[in-house]
Amino acid sequence: METVVGPTIISARLLNILLVPIVALWALHLYQRKFRDAGARKRAATLSLTLVVICAWAAAWLFNRFSVPDAWLVVVAGAAAAVIAWQHRRMLPFRLRCARCGKAVSVDRILGLDSNICEACEPPASSHEGEATR
Ligand SMILES: [Zn+2]
Repeated sequence: METVVGPTIISARLLNILLVPIVALWALHLYQRKFRDAGARKRAATLSLTLVVICAWAAAWLFNRFSVPDAWLVVVAGAAAAVIAWQHRRMLPFRLRCARCGKAVSVDRILGLDSNICEACEPPASSHEGEATR
């Protein structure tokens, strides 16, 4: 039995802490499924963000397992931030305001719909919007 309370105390904590965003993102993904095709990009974004967090969790696990000092977590955090910054168009498509009029949009629309426009700006009866392909 090891009772090492030393260089990997933060990575040991992260193993628990990171489960929170993983579960939250998974719950968000399940919630987003109700929007079907209208939210395909945001659903993919949620999954890719989940993947980044899982990779960070795996790194913390490996660091903990092989007693890699916590200082190296900075590299992991940097890598995760770099990936999200590099892929921000794909991974962070969530907008708090309407793309047309600038008004605040509802939570459903922020989290679920790809169109990023408010109810008032939504074109009536257009369930097949070709917005997804750029
Ligand atoms: Zn609007």
